[in-house]
Amino acid sequence: MQQTQVIIVGAGPTGLSLAVQLLRYHIGFIILEKNERTTHLSKAIVIQARTLEIFHESGLAKKAIELGRLTTAMNMYYKGKKRMRLDLSGLGEGLSHFPFALSLEQSKTEKMLVDHMAEKGKNILWGSEFTRFEQDEAGVTVYYKDETGHEQIIKGNYLVGCDGARSMVRHQSGQAFEGDTVPKLFYVTDVSLSSPVVNKDELFIFLIKKGFILFFPMEGTGHYRIIGILPDYTEEDTVTFETIREEVTRQMVSPVVFEKVHWFSTYKVHSRKAGSFMNGRCFIAGDAAHIHTPAGGQGMNTGIQDAYNLAWKIAFTIKDNANAALLESYNTERTGNAANLLRTTDRMFEFMTGASGLQDFIRLKIFPLAARYISRNKFFNKRIFPLLSMTSIAYPGSALTITSSMGRVKAGQRIPYFVFRDGKNIFDYLTDPDFKLLYFGAAVPANPEELKNLKFPLSFFSFTDIPTALFKNETDFYILLRPDNHIAYIGKDGQAVTRFLRNFFPNFK
Ligand SMILES: Cc1cc2nc3c(=O)[nH]c(=O)nc-3n(C[C@H](O)[C@H](O)[C@H](O)COP(=O)(O)OP(=O)(O)OC[C@H]3O[C@@H](n4cnc5c(N)ncnc54)[C@H](O)[C@@H]3O)c2cc1C
Repeated sequence: MQQTQVIIVGAGPTGLSLAVQLLRYHIGFIILEKNERTTHLSKAIVIQARTLEIFHESGLAKKAIELGRLTTAMNMYYKGKKRMRLDLSGLGEGLSHFPFALSLEQSKTEKMLVDHMAEKGKNILWGSEFTRFEQDEAGVTVYYKDETGHEQIIKGNYLVGCDGARSMVRHQSGQAFEGDTVPKLFYVTDVSLSSPVVNKDELFIFLIKKGFILFFPMEGTGHYRIIGILPDYTEEDTVTFETIREEVTRQMVSPVVFEKVHWFSTYKVHSRKAGSFMNGRCFIAGDAAHIHTPAGGQGMNTGIQDAYNLAWKIAFTIKDNANAALLESYNTERTGNAANLLRTTDRMFEFMTGASGLQDFIRLKIFPLAARYISRNKFFNKRIFPLLSMTSIAYPGSALTITSSMGRVKAGQRIPYFVFRDGKNIFDYLTDPDFKLLYFGAAVPANPEELKNLKFPLSFFSFTDIPTALFKNETDFYILLRPDNHIAYIGKDGQAVTRFLRNFFPNFK
């Protein structure tokens, strides 16, 4: 029998991210994966800015950017004619240290995470299939079949099911997967092609009646991921790459020669979520907890961010004896986030695939004009980038948020990105996995007496250079940041900080 602190089922992007986070907190874990290796498929190819910020804390953002590529422009076509070109470079300028979306195949993201674990001396139990679990007040017992087919047992404090959309952990913890499946048929293919139109490192969208075709540039000349809809086909129809070749060529109204097919698949789109992501000592995260339409490239990123939200709460519960509300906040914060996400992606998706005459009219005639206008003013930077990049995710109603604000900045939000006069940005200070108390004000550090000599992971920073526009010229105030850099409290009451920490952590003395 093996013993550990956290048992992770599934070495997809969510399970691997959880492992990478737990390493930061020195929490022991075992990760079970039924396959022999990570996926070789490109699957998710968009890494959003918030995910890069999270990677940065583990020293992985630079590597991801080296491995991937930035999509610099988007072109929109209708009936063979270019309707608009949108420059994507720097669209999120001033909102994140990573003001873009990175293109990186999921296979490479997973390998990067596995390599990082290996560098830290941690391996995955490949070929190990989770079969069942039991739990009581003392912990969880997990049963799995090893690569020889023998049953093995692990005991641990917590179990986290990161085992994908068909999650057995979710099933066994009694959670229904509520939602819908869209009855339309979609395809995804990675191809090498040549075309006088689709020929740059740029994103191409071809608007068609009842849908769209998207070409994402991938590594290498003429290598693209194509995603599209087959509006007139159902699951019963036999669809091969030949069907796609004909459909795409007809719908694009532009010449294209497909030279090599690297991957082809059809799929149906689901929009589902579990009612709860927590049952006692058992949690679910990533696709095991929620799946949604591919609109906006949010799926994998949300799984990585579930893991990020859960890891520090598990760590502080194990190491700092946090009260039960801390782990429960994973459930409330991330089910709330998933519900918002499903609403947004459903709306985006309906917009891109709606089949009524009015929806077609708006998508084909109004949208290209509106998109051109939006791209020229600040609307994209202020509204669309924060949403797509996931930097605007906030937990205002969480038990971990003390309702408070200062200028435009509110508790519950991730601390906004800003750059000091010396060129350093605030996130440069915030890479350690602990609580942080920031003081903005007079030159003398105002570390409150009761926060000195603590045996609790809380760092203190004092800044005299205050970004006045953000904080409405306020001075002499505190920001308490959780380890995931969301604001727990912002205001002038130093006592609010100590009350908050005492409330959640009996060890906070
Ligand atoms: C074509 C396509 C394009 C996509 N594009 C994007 C995109 O651009 N951006 C984005 O964010 N998302 C995208 N997604 C979604 C993204 O791929 C998923 O959201 C992501 O893979 C979810 O990661 P996960 O780790 O939660 O689950 P998975 O990747 O499904 O991993 C689950 C793992 O658990 C293992 N497992 C399952 N059962 C067991 C068991 N009983 N015992 C042990 N191991 C088990 C599986 O083998 C698997 O390795 C796309 C998906 C597809 C298919």
